[in-house]
Amino acid sequence: MKKLALDFDGTIANTNIIKSALIREKFGITIPPWQCDHTLCTPQIGEEAYREISSIVFEEESTLATPPLNGAVETIQKLAEKFDLYLLTARPERRLVYARQWLINYRIERCFQKLLSSRLPDGGFILKLQICQENQLDLLIDDDSRHLTVPGYENILRLLMKDGYESGLDLPEEVIIISNWSMFYDFCMENLNGSDV
Ligand SMILES: [Mg+2]
Repeated sequence: MKKLALDFDGTIANTNIIKSALIREKFGITIPPWQCDHTLCTPQIGEEAYREISSIVFEEESTLATPPLNGAVETIQKLAEKFDLYLLTARPERRLVYARQWLINYRIERCFQKLLSSRLPDGGFILKLQICQENQLDLLIDDDSRHLTVPGYENILRLLMKDGYESGLDLPEEVIIISNWSMFYDFCMENLNGSDV
């Protein structure tokens, strides 16, 4: 069975609409949700402001109040019947607990074989694609392109979740843009031979 790594924030949980609303409220700047990942947001509001927003949205109260992306919950349930799913997040262990609770609340925690964090206990990171390589995962879907554009992992399918994206991103051609969960489901069924279990 093929193994898929799914990012949590901005990919499953719609953390980006929460960030977008907070940025408007705190700084009076309008940034569309699809540009609220770290890579696209920090050039617009600065690293410090992004950190301030993040320190709110990744905590327990905000995490548990975050809605899913359209179709995420239903699609994960369907994909779990055909693939091995892994959650792969940059949340540290402490904040991964809130993500786990979110998955439990939406009754999809058991759809995942494992919840993996790319954050080290000392605050450093392991590359998400390296974790995919080590765990022999076939695909990574994430809303932040920096996790997907690292050279040297050509054997792993890399998908960028951009709900609401129309144009303007300059990406390497191997990174595939996915606009919604229904498109992601179709991609997996067409490219990963999901029926062959
Ligand atoms: Mg993310």
